[in-house]
Amino acid sequence: MSLETIPKDLRGLRACLLCSLIKTMDQFEFDGCENCQDVLHMKNNRDIVIECTSANFEGMIALMSPEDSWVAKWQRIERMVKGCYAVSVTGSLPPRFVRELRAKGRVYNSRDVSNRT
Ligand SMILES: [Zn+2]
Repeated sequence: MSLETIPKDLRGLRACLLCSLIKTMDQFEFDGCENCQDVLHMKNNRDIVIECTSANFEGMIALMSPEDSWVAKWQRIERMVKGCYAVSVTGSLPPRFVRELRAKGRVYNSRDVSNRT
């Protein structure tokens, strides 16, 4: 099996470290993260996309009606946009973004289950 058999649009997928939204690198760079744009400013900034998203994630949840989904509540994404979300994302947000979140009165919940206590 060659790598060419993997659909092009499933390669280069990344998950947001803050909300776990899954999109391609290009989508994050072009649109930013719809949930986190006010804090992470990924739009048109590939460096921030690389810092604030991870290609290493597990599981995928397709979220269609966040407001009445128990899965969304469990993943704490019930107020997020519709889309695909990872169950866990490996990696953590760079400290300066965690500080910015805190300054806005928000708490950073790591999406990395290997760190969860
Ligand atoms: Zn996000």
